Amino acid sequence: MEITLQNLTKVFQSKKEDEVVAVDNLDIVIPSGKLYGLLGPSGCGKSTTLFMICGLLKPTEGRIFFGNEDVTPVPPEERGIGLVFQNYALYPHMTVKQNIMFPLENIKMDKKEGLKKAQDIADLVGIGHLMNRKPAQLSGGQQQRVAIARALVKSPRVLLLDEPLSNLDARLRLQTREEIKRIQRETGITTIFVTHDQEEAMSISDEIVVLDEGVTQQVGRPQEVYNKPNNLFVAKFLGTPPINIFDGRIEDGRLIIGDANIGKFEAPDQEVTIGIRPEGFKIAERSSFQVDVEFVETIGRDTTLIIEHPNVETPESFEDPEDDEDKVDTSAIADEFAPDTDDKDMDFTPKQSIRSAKTFRAIVDADYGVEPGDTVKFSVKPHKMHVFNKETGELVKPDA
Ligand code: ATP
Repeated sequence: MEITLQNLTKVFQSKKEDEVVAVDNLDIVIPSGKLYGLLGPSGCGKSTTLFMICGLLKPTEGRIFFGNEDVTPVPPEERGIGLVFQNYALYPHMTVKQNIMFPLENIKMDKKEGLKKAQDIADLVGIGHLMNRKPAQLSGGQQQRVAIARALVKSPRVLLLDEPLSNLDARLRLQTREEIKRIQRETGITTIFVTHDQEEAMSISDEIVVLDEGVTQQVGRPQEVYNKPNNLFVAKFLGTPPINIFDGRIEDGRLIIGDANIGKFEAPDQEVTIGIRPEGFKIAERSSFQVDVEFVETIGRDTTLIIEHPNVETPESFEDPEDDEDKVDTSAIADEFAPDTDDKDMDFTPKQSIRSAKTFRAIVDADYGVEPGDTVKFSVKPHKMHVFNKETGELVKPDA
């Protein structure tokens, strides 16, 4: 079942506050049988979008289609939706079997047929052997599967999952998200998966929709969105460790950070913001991008070099969110906190220094054997570097 969101908008109005545009003009088509991840920071409008799709919230503007059917005026119970929340709210006094069969009572399915259906779905989600247990006798992951089975038992046209893994511990989250992917493939139900966890969205989704302040920032396959972010927000939101952000400029067809030439870039001269993924650096003898390594962390084959640099964007912890207009020059403060390179015995904890100073991360092969205090020269892999307009944050493309 294809889902179309057309010009979908939700404005909340309250007497005490100004109006809040929670969802702003969403235009998305989710092809039949696909799993789309709705991803964005807290408050970006993910849940509001989901509630409009399932009919619990009425859009201020716009329409929702399931296939060719305009479901905007259709009440929730008639939309054919399976819904799973973070708090999966099973009935504690009922067995797994009764919990799964509960939605069938409303549609008065024949008991025998209902039992078979419940058993089939329970087998599909891997809890077929637990049908007579009560929820309290199940692990968190098993409970979540019961919730998924309950959502699937009525053969919904659309499956909506709102942060379904948030209550599970790290290992179980990993396992359950793979399970969800498998179940979704096997059932072929068009699914929307809401999460603020980029890794979760990237691993599970056929395509992700990145939202910020109710506005779509980018829609695409996870790798595509990671490798080709449309704007600075998307570049910063995806990736762990996060992308490094530098103040830079385009000058005579070259990209410059400080006084280092980073590479060719044919575009009009201008100030720009440059994002470079940590894995985008290569150690290269012939480069003008020379830096002093402050800290080194080696995990397996990879070494992460932590490097102070005056052109790195000030870490967010230094910015005062209340005072956007009137920014203090935080570089001076960062300098104060930065370790004095001559004073090696100074007592500071590395963690504090990493957080307070303007530093960036470069992941290189451990074989280089880089040590703290070494000076290295970097070249930058062009496809791991992204150039954005300094004011708008939109991608700057090189002239063809
Ligand atoms: P989270 O990940 O924290 O659940 P979200 O992305 O799901 O966030 P929403 O719950 O959709 O975000 O909220 C989007 C915006 O709309 C927020 O600014 C929120 O404060 C606002 N909002 C949500 N519900 C209401 C409401 N009933 N009245 C007023 N504002 C609301």
